Amino acid sequence: MVPTKQRQVSAALRTPKASLKQREEPGHQAVPGTRYIGGFLGIKYCPKCHDGVINTDNGICIQCGFEPRKTSHIQEYVDKIIAFSFDCANVICRMEDNDISSEGKKTRDEKWFKVLLEIIYFYIHLTDRFAFGLWDEETRDSVMTDIVEGTIPIVAEQICQEWPEEMVDKIKQECMDNFVNAMKEYGSYQKLSAKKDEDLKDTLFWEFGKNVANLTEEWPNPASIIRIEGIVTISLKELDINSFIEKAR
Ligand SMILES: [Zn+2]
Repeated sequence: MVPTKQRQVSAALRTPKASLKQREEPGHQAVPGTRYIGGFLGIKYCPKCHDGVINTDNGICIQCGFEPRKTSHIQEYVDKIIAFSFDCANVICRMEDNDISSEGKKTRDEKWFKVLLEIIYFYIHLTDRFAFGLWDEETRDSVMTDIVEGTIPIVAEQICQEWPEEMVDKIKQECMDNFVNAMKEYGSYQKLSAKKDEDLKDTLFWEFGKNVANLTEEWPNPASIIRIEGIVTISLKELDINSFIEKAR
């Protein structure tokens, strides 16, 4: 088991929200994650160059010629993972609260980034976990690869886009390493949650909540862990992992 605190994410991050906002183009809402929700806007951006639009006739990026190999239901699912993790991280880190110092904001943005990624790792773990026995090895390999590649490096790149390339590459690599550790950790918990009067320790949702609470608070208490679990559990209903697993079979 690898404790969260051993997961590294380089240096300080500059105001991720502002940086996302700067990329907004006319007609796009300034909501993190929206850029990826092609369905809302009728526009699908290229997952490779991020600037090109995917031609709906042939599925090829008009800018770089990349043809997203992901089938639409996987891309749709990836979009949902990104959007919901942004939503949850914003609520958990109370991003709407602007009544803090700029130093406080900087610290909060760093925490926000780590929380955001931790939620993505968790969604990915749950997908793989719930699909156990329902997908054959080949489906699992290809679908899980598409989900991982479509979320972690894309999100890291998007948030750190104004940084020097080698630094972005370093952060992406760290996020992928953290992801591998998170999969090992979450995979080691046999139970999803504890039954009444059972020990919460080593149950998946509790340990996930604890990891996130450790990222956001100096002295996490059970109440904050339960708050975090609650926020993410609500999003899981909408993510609807089981329907996706059925579709991808
Ligand atoms: Zn492109």
